[in-house]
Amino acid sequence: MTFVNQQIILAERPKGMPDSSTFKFVEKDIDELKEGQILVKTLFVSVDPYMRGRMEDAESYIEPFQVGEVIEGGAIGEVIESKSDLFQQGDVVTGMFGWQQYYAANEKEIRKIDPSLAPISTHLGILGMTGLTAYFGLLEIGQPQEGETVVISGAAGAVGSTVGQIAKIKGAKVVGIAGSDHKISYLKDELGFDEGINYRTAKDLANEVKRACPEGVDVYFDNVGGEVSDAVLTRLNRFARIPVCGAISSYNLEGADIGPRVQATLIKKSALMQGFTVGNYSERFHEGAKQLGQWLQEGKLKYRETIKEGFENIPNAFLDLFKGKNIGKLLVKVADRQYGK
Ligand code: NDP
Repeated sequence: MTFVNQQIILAERPKGMPDSSTFKFVEKDIDELKEGQILVKTLFVSVDPYMRGRMEDAESYIEPFQVGEVIEGGAIGEVIESKSDLFQQGDVVTGMFGWQQYYAANEKEIRKIDPSLAPISTHLGILGMTGLTAYFGLLEIGQPQEGETVVISGAAGAVGSTVGQIAKIKGAKVVGIAGSDHKISYLKDELGFDEGINYRTAKDLANEVKRACPEGVDVYFDNVGGEVSDAVLTRLNRFARIPVCGAISSYNLEGADIGPRVQATLIKKSALMQGFTVGNYSERFHEGAKQLGQWLQEGKLKYRETIKEGFENIPNAFLDLFKGKNIGKLLVKVADRQYGK
């Protein structure tokens, strides 16, 4: 049987903020499966800030997207046909098959997930790439100690909201910086953050950080860069640690991001600032996912997802990341399961 596969390809490389001309919807037939192949129907697609970087033709830790090619990214799907002994119809799988409705996968490109443990979408969020980013970035680089103050930017997003809760589990005082009062209430009332700062309405951000962190900042988990980070860096304690996870405030800038130089601050405070990508810890993903799953089951970790519906809404959902429209992980639901609940 031949399936018509809707795909979203990179139509052109964006300058500044991507828009509708960045993406193009196309249709392509999927032919008969070859021996060893598995046909996967996409159920959930992940939209992630790092995908903006892959739209540039620039050297990075990951290959750029190619113009005319499907936008690659994390997704969850259901096996609807299999010519592999390792996968059966109805299996739920995850892989990097990206923004398309069907994918003919090879055995090594997908991995089964257990739908009985938690909602399957969590494998793109708290139990997936963003949860692992929070876990390893905070614990390996941030190393929060009991009683220390941990500040997180992008705090109400997928990574940030998990970082704050792990820091609480470790006994730290946690301060979240996010872009709306609604998000700050969520952090304090639902996730147990001690303090919150709305960076969009704060008149003097450095002063706000001072108010929220009277004992200074021991760990700054940086998801956004830019002026928010400039303000936090004014309040570092000696031997502070700064896991540099993301810099979303600069992803759509056309030129270089200019700001205060950090060297003198780092020297004065003997502070450690270290960039990382979650892939650095790939050999320990199993350990991280196990611990996150355990905390989730024990009720020590909570999560929220912002789920948009419909394949046609994937590009707009991606753009919503830069408008702060999500709380927790932003996902697009593309289809319901056909063979299971
Ligand atoms: P989020 O769920 O946090 O979504 C993005 C959020 O960023 C928005 O909701 C918005 O919240 C905030 N934001 C958008 N534009 C700006 C801006 N100009 N200034 C400040 N905040 C802004 O995304 P993720 O949790 O998936 O990712 C968070 C960060 O971590 C990103 O920078 C991402 O690139 C990075 N990352 C890094 C990884 C790694 O391996 N190093 C892996 C995964 C993610 P608000 O309303 O608060 O503005």
